[in-house]
Amino acid sequence: MMRAAFLMKTREVAFKEIPIPEPEDDEALVKIQSVGICGSDIHYYMHGRIGSFVIEKPLILGHESAGEVVHVGKKVRNVRVGDRVAMEPGIPCRRCFYCRTGNYNLCKDVVFFATPPVNGTFCEYVTHPTDYLFPLPENMSYDEGAMIEPLSVGLYACKLANLRPGDSVTVLGAGPIGLVTLQAAKAMGASRIIVSDIYPKRLDFAMKLGAHHALNAKEVEVVQAVLDLTGGFGTDVVFEAAGSEQTTRASVKIVRNGGSIVWTGMAAKGDFVIPVSEAIAKEVRISGQFRYANTYPMAIQLVSQGRIDVKSMITKIFSFDEIAQALENWARGNLDHIKAIVRM
Ligand SMILES: [Zn+2]
Ligand SMILES: [Zn+2]
Repeated sequence: MMRAAFLMKTREVAFKEIPIPEPEDDEALVKIQSVGICGSDIHYYMHGRIGSFVIEKPLILGHESAGEVVHVGKKVRNVRVGDRVAMEPGIPCRRCFYCRTGNYNLCKDVVFFATPPVNGTFCEYVTHPTDYLFPLPENMSYDEGAMIEPLSVGLYACKLANLRPGDSVTVLGAGPIGLVTLQAAKAMGASRIIVSDIYPKRLDFAMKLGAHHALNAKEVEVVQAVLDLTGGFGTDVVFEAAGSEQTTRASVKIVRNGGSIVWTGMAAKGDFVIPVSEAIAKEVRISGQFRYANTYPMAIQLVSQGRIDVKSMITKIFSFDEIAQALENWARGNLDHIKAIVRM
């Protein structure tokens, strides 16, 4: 038997003893070691739903995970018992149009950790198909392994933007996703990076991670400030990682003519009023973003080589026993830390 932390209903977590699962032939049993707490976990914790995904029975949260392979099915060749692995949380159907054309993040039948009714990884053991397990080099910790998930979002945003070396970049929102996007852009050769947020602490952090300008949206008008910084030109690429109407509208106004925008931030209600004629006249390319595909090997390499620093983003560690406190802490709006990790 093993311990698992279930979200019973909004704002109520309970530990239960459940059987340790058995891996199928193509799966491994992973002993979970580190799990990052994500905004989506908090959303389920507080509201019991994200859009059309509604929690109808107790659910195990957690999807940013790394652990140790302790048992493998008989057809498994790519990982071995004892391997330390990062776990890609979404298993697609592998058969549909999107899966066959490399955009498996858009697969309609994806099974994704901690998305009702699929359980996540705030438990001791999880079985997982081994082609979605990625061994960690010796110089990477389990905590860094868990951070490969959010980092993947940043790397995929750069891919969707078609970011090229030398590009100037604005990142709207300096939460964990904004900060990994900033770092991914830097690693891919962005020349000048402007970041905006409303929390000074996050902006200081963005500067430490390599931003060139930090704009506090409570103090300055961000659109005007970016235009001032770029001589009225705007930036080549704009990443929207805040999920607000104001920042989504701003993305169109901040990007240069012919530039690229990626909308990553997801709002509870997203029917925004967008300056469409301006987007047309500027010939901007706008891409939505939903998760990521084929990013794990690249993300692990970039962290292992020291070209992206996810370690310093981890500013709070909780034990498995403290998980209720960790979720409640964040739900109460305690944004003192950048990223919290639960060590299982
Ligand atoms: Zn996440
Ligand atoms: Zn599919």
